[in-house]
Amino acid sequence: CGIVGYVSRTTDGTALDVVMEGLARLEYRGYDSAGVALVTPDGVATEKRAGKLENLRSALAAHPMAPAATGIGHTRWATHGGPTDGNAHPHLGGREDRLALIHNGIIENFHALKKELLADGAEFRSETDTEVAAQIVGREYDRTGDLTEAMRAAVARLEGAFTLLAVHADQPGVVVGARRNSPLVVGVGDEANYLGSDVAAFIGHTRHAVELGQDQIVTITPDGYEVVGFDGQPAQGKAYEVTWDASA
Ligand code: GLU
Repeated sequence: CGIVGYVSRTTDGTALDVVMEGLARLEYRGYDSAGVALVTPDGVATEKRAGKLENLRSALAAHPMAPAATGIGHTRWATHGGPTDGNAHPHLGGREDRLALIHNGIIENFHALKKELLADGAEFRSETDTEVAAQIVGREYDRTGDLTEAMRAAVARLEGAFTLLAVHADQPGVVVGARRNSPLVVGVGDEANYLGSDVAAFIGHTRHAVELGQDQIVTITPDGYEVVGFDGQPAQGKAYEVTWDASA
């Protein structure tokens, strides 16, 4: 339902604060669960809870996470699998669960893909369509060693409407997003870059926005962003300035 991504150069642990602030600004869309993933030296750390953001905040207070410069956050509106802690996003995939992924929308062909993965020995920890995407991107990362490539290989197999964001513990300064029939916007900052399902996700930090087009993949790092089509060809989003008053 709501999606936030953040990469920065800082090492003072801003990622969690920025992601939580973005999720709070996306609350107006409605949701039934919320979760975050941070890229830490020990792998991706996640916390997720059914219910209001307050439940996630309490869980984070009880189990503090290591400071991080890269993170993603999600508010979920359940379509496949009830609103439980386990079905909340992020979902993990790949060797040693080193990849975390969040998703807006519906993966229409998840049932067939899940059958295939199960036959290949995969184990699932949720009832969501999303976990199928997490496991496929995770496997593609293990094969290719590159998160953008992994996302591109994975989306070629997905049908439906989706905005996906993924982080991987081996690429700490990177968030990769992909979109089909569901929105995704880049927020361009100075020392940091952002992704959001809408500009509310990062409006507290930058007004330079780049709206991605249909079937595009974006890779953000602290230094900038790069867009390619699902076909791998260089592509461009539509840059604009957010002019509305965020405090209203
Ligand atoms: N279909 C996914 C799920 O049920 C994502 C729903 C959403 O857009 O929040 O987990």
